[in-house]
Amino acid sequence: MRAGLGYDVHRLTEGRRLILGGVEIPFEKGLLGHSDADVLVHAIMDALLGAAALGDIGKHFPDTDPEFEGISSIELLRRVGVLLEEHHYVVENIDATVIAQRPKLRPFMPQMEANICEALGIERNQLNLKATTEEGLGFTGREEGMAAQAICMLIPLLDLAGDDRNFGCGGCGGCGNC
Ligand code: MG
Repeated sequence: MRAGLGYDVHRLTEGRRLILGGVEIPFEKGLLGHSDADVLVHAIMDALLGAAALGDIGKHFPDTDPEFEGISSIELLRRVGVLLEEHHYVVENIDATVIAQRPKLRPFMPQMEANICEALGIERNQLNLKATTEEGLGFTGREEGMAAQAICMLIPLLDLAGDDRNFGCGGCGGCGNC
């Protein structure tokens, strides 16, 4: 098993749509960024890339690249899923928290979860989303921005198959591990 951690912050501003977990949420402000600024999906992508030792989203999807301007972060998440597959990792689970003073996010959670699970090809019981406020404190409390944290576990496919380098049996076929 391999653990990964993701953290992201985006500024709230007028004249932008608020997109979280691929869902457009009615609100008077939206998050500012080069892509759709989906802070939740960004934190999840960084956790996944971190667990796979593949760097971060800035490395794979630089905000200086016009290809990624206004792009759906769910589409970027799909690409991260492909990268994981190419590197022979499967997702065990993801747990993530959005930190925002407003609006209430609970009504939108089922659709966010469905979008993220679909993009990664994982089951609903492999993803947990949460939301919290910071009790009016700090930049999220002042509604200047939103933050998100994510943690994930990945399983290297080599582990699932039984890795003879771990067990030292050399692929004997009889030990139950190879
Ligand atoms: Mg970001």
